[in-house]
Amino acid sequence: MSHTDLTDDVREVGAAVLATLATHIESVRTGAGEVVSADDIDTVAKRLELRRWVEEGGMTLPELLSFVTTYSDISASHHHPGYMGHQIAPSDTPGVVADLLQAMTNNIPLVYELAPAAAAVDRAVCRWMLDKVGWAETGIGAMTNGGTLGNLTALLAARSHADATAWREGTPGDLVVFAPATSHYSVRKAAAVMGLGERGVHALPTDELGRIDPAGLAPALAEARAQGKRPVAVVANGCATGTGLYDPIAEVAQFCESNGLWFHFDGAHGAAALLSPRLRGLLAGIERADSTVWDGHKMLRTSALCTGVLFREKRYLDTMFKQDASYLYRPEAEDVDPGQFTFETSKAPLGLKILLTLAYRGEDAMRAYVERQYALATELWELIQERGDFTAPYRPDSNILCFRYEPWGDRQLELRARLIQDGRFYLSSFQLNGRPYLRASLMSPTTDRQTLRELLEVIVELAAV
Ligand SMILES: *Cc1c(COP(=O)(O)O)cnc(C)c1O
Repeated sequence: MSHTDLTDDVREVGAAVLATLATHIESVRTGAGEVVSADDIDTVAKRLELRRWVEEGGMTLPELLSFVTTYSDISASHHHPGYMGHQIAPSDTPGVVADLLQAMTNNIPLVYELAPAAAAVDRAVCRWMLDKVGWAETGIGAMTNGGTLGNLTALLAARSHADATAWREGTPGDLVVFAPATSHYSVRKAAAVMGLGERGVHALPTDELGRIDPAGLAPALAEARAQGKRPVAVVANGCATGTGLYDPIAEVAQFCESNGLWFHFDGAHGAAALLSPRLRGLLAGIERADSTVWDGHKMLRTSALCTGVLFREKRYLDTMFKQDASYLYRPEAEDVDPGQFTFETSKAPLGLKILLTLAYRGEDAMRAYVERQYALATELWELIQERGDFTAPYRPDSNILCFRYEPWGDRQLELRARLIQDGRFYLSSFQLNGRPYLRASLMSPTTDRQTLRELLEVIVELAAV
């Protein structure tokens, strides 16, 4: 049928696809199948019959369901107990419903009148996040597509703060950002995009685990000033992507306040600890930052992407993104038309994923997930302490832990390749102080202590063959 449209078949197709996907996830949760396919891209293209579908079309509903199953089988299974790779949420029902709602309504909250419901939801979710950080009274926030864009947006605000002419005239050559080398690559990307260059990011001194050394802040600033540089911002992490460790936030805040510097706190992964009275101490001082980012698609279990970029003071935005799009924006409506201070123009209403998670699962359930996953990494650390053949360089702050199988010395990446080929587990890796480590990021709610024991056993088993 050439004129079939959404409402003609979405009930039937949607119900069948959802049932197929639910069956797949149920099976993945029990640990069935490979965590992620190790096939190469051409093999995958063949398994999915991509050439046929591109060239001939004509997919029937049974073929669509079979495609959905094959696609899911080949994909990384974030609900699998053996998935310990990157910090990607095993998505939960409310976020899936939000994606469906968006797919069907396709509203774009660029300005309020285009998407009233979505704009109201985004504002409510930003206010919730601001409240958790401690900025409910003075702050402002927007939803954006990922921590990477969030970091760029916050650093753009910092740049305007350092030099209000930069948006119009271009970036002066003397601006620099301070960040520890353990910062997410997106901080260097942002510096490059803003015209500071990657070399415009000055590495802050750290301890041996890559955490900012507060005693190194003043010398770093003095050295940059002696070179004629002007600071845009100091970046600290909670937690650092590679190690999962939190920087000493209060000390950095103190230093920034004393020196009139913008403090950007990258909480993409770790700001979720704000939900837990037990873990909140890791973030003590976050309220003294000037800006932060917080990803929903990491520890709040929403689908990608879903990020809040948050500012302590509304007035920070006065000089940022001086846009001339008078056909769109009303200057008096900044937290009603939040498109005024995000990088995107059209974008999905991302806040709905968090709003429905809060509404349908509840903040307590979200807190319980964060606490459970953080505790699990400590369990892995404890299991490692009980054995002589594995080591871990620190007790984890979060749900991320780097470790090594000692008999394999610096060949940990080979070990990881074997593990991926085997298919029962998926780990990432990290270079700490120039040495390779296996890295577990414990995101799946089906991973438990027994899974962690098995992980260590399987590593020993694969090392022996
Ligand atoms: C994941 C992460 C980012 C990047 O966020 P995306 O949502 O992947 O763009 C930035 N900073 C930290 C600390 C992160 O963990």
